[in-house]
Amino acid sequence: MERAELVFVPTPAVGHLVSAIEFAIRLLDQCHRFSVTILVMKSPFGVTGDQSLPAASHTHIKFIHLPNVDPPTELVSAKKYLTDYIENYKSHVRDTIFNRVLPNTSQVAGMVVDMFCTTMIDIANELKVPSFIFFTSGAAYLGLLLYHPKGVGKLFDESDCESIIPSYIHPVPTNALPAFAFNYGGYMSFVNHARRFMDALPAFAFNYGGYMSFVNHARRFMETKGIIVNTFVELESQAVHSLFDGNENYQSKLHPQVYKIGPLIDIKGRYQVQSNQAKVDKIMKWLDDQPPKSVVFLCFGSSGSFDESQLKEIAIGLEQSGQRFLWSVRQSPPTGTLAMPGEYTNYEDFLPPDFSKRTKGIGMLCGWAPQAEVLGHKAIGGFVSHCGWNSILESLWFGVPIVTWPIYAEQQINAFQMARDLGLGMELRVVYKKDGADFVTADEIKRALRRLMEGDGEIRKRVQEMSGICRKAVADGGSSSASFGSLIEVVLGSLKIT
Ligand code: UDP
Repeated sequence: MERAELVFVPTPAVGHLVSAIEFAIRLLDQCHRFSVTILVMKSPFGVTGDQSLPAASHTHIKFIHLPNVDPPTELVSAKKYLTDYIENYKSHVRDTIFNRVLPNTSQVAGMVVDMFCTTMIDIANELKVPSFIFFTSGAAYLGLLLYHPKGVGKLFDESDCESIIPSYIHPVPTNALPAFAFNYGGYMSFVNHARRFMDALPAFAFNYGGYMSFVNHARRFMETKGIIVNTFVELESQAVHSLFDGNENYQSKLHPQVYKIGPLIDIKGRYQVQSNQAKVDKIMKWLDDQPPKSVVFLCFGSSGSFDESQLKEIAIGLEQSGQRFLWSVRQSPPTGTLAMPGEYTNYEDFLPPDFSKRTKGIGMLCGWAPQAEVLGHKAIGGFVSHCGWNSILESLWFGVPIVTWPIYAEQQINAFQMARDLGLGMELRVVYKKDGADFVTADEIKRALRRLMEGDGEIRKRVQEMSGICRKAVADGGSSSASFGSLIEVVLGSLKIT
């Protein structure tokens, strides 16, 4: 039987690509009626370290690398920049589907478009095939994007101390909300009502562009046949149920179906090329020599980096904590640029004098790390993470407790969710600062690491329980597996009989 083609359009960023590829593989493993074409855009920010994507090889997955496009000329916010950049890819996506995908398949079954690629829904409409959103963050965050307590275009007031958001169990501290979530002086309602004038509006200091990108993406979610979320219901039951309770403040009471099919984790790092295998081997060998659960792993996602004064402070905190550590360090890009962090050639540039000598055998510094493999190593006992959603899922999968150190994007609210809402993480500090990162002292780091590694073990126990639960969710008969089955039924239902 000839397979029908599903076209995936992921956002060109590690966290989005890896989970999209993992999703494609699971889909193909469960249903033999499809093949997948993944259209790969070039990242506007470059790649991190020596990592490049994608390298997956699967008989029924085909990658098509799209031509380069010009980046936007204006930088209002990273998300708006990315959204505009993806918009520039629209004609390439359309041409590629019409000229390279359609001639080679009996039918296109549908399009799976990433949460930031909603503009591609238009192409699915042109093709008269269903579109699905691939949402790479959690259901609680999806709930935040769909929630408009004061009407669409007006979200939260900065003067509120905390906000009730139905997808979170506890009131959310206003400072933990992503910067885009505020109603900037009534301007947003104006923007919303007069969207055709938007281009004429000044950017000002506030981030209306970033905000509107999110609002517009979330609006378009409603036009699709389903939202595929990388989560599992046992983790986010509050969020999942809140999306269905008909709350009148939600953008639409008629959500498309939400499929909770996670955690989708590239457990072995199979689909990320490590161009320098020797570096990976060195890390894993070092871990092999450490006692079980003795090492704290510090890693801050594909884009996390600190200036050298913060790096030095982390080094002091690590040393004072007395814990073993594996620390993935990146070099910040020049201020004001949106490039990815680079790799240090010499860590001594920022380390305190003789740090390396004193911590020899106890600690190791590295650049890009094979994170999932590291978290799965028996020597790892704790994780200091920026709280990207993939990192959270990976830590839960391997039962490694997190100290939350959010830096950018939705990481503060993810950190809040893990630590306070779900009791599955520890906060580095309890005060949320608007817009995220702030200088953290060596003493705060030392105390957090000791709590993580030497505390009463309550959070570790909960995280280990959740590890078992999430593995069950994706196994046969589990909740995510069932949701996956329903999704496949829906896609199959849209096929023309062949
Ligand atoms: N990652 C990795 N090595 C690193 C940093 C990140 O393998 O040194 C992987 C990590 O395992 C995760 C992804 O890159 O799968 C990062 O996704 P996440 O959502 O956690 O954060 P983002 O990079 O999107 O901020």
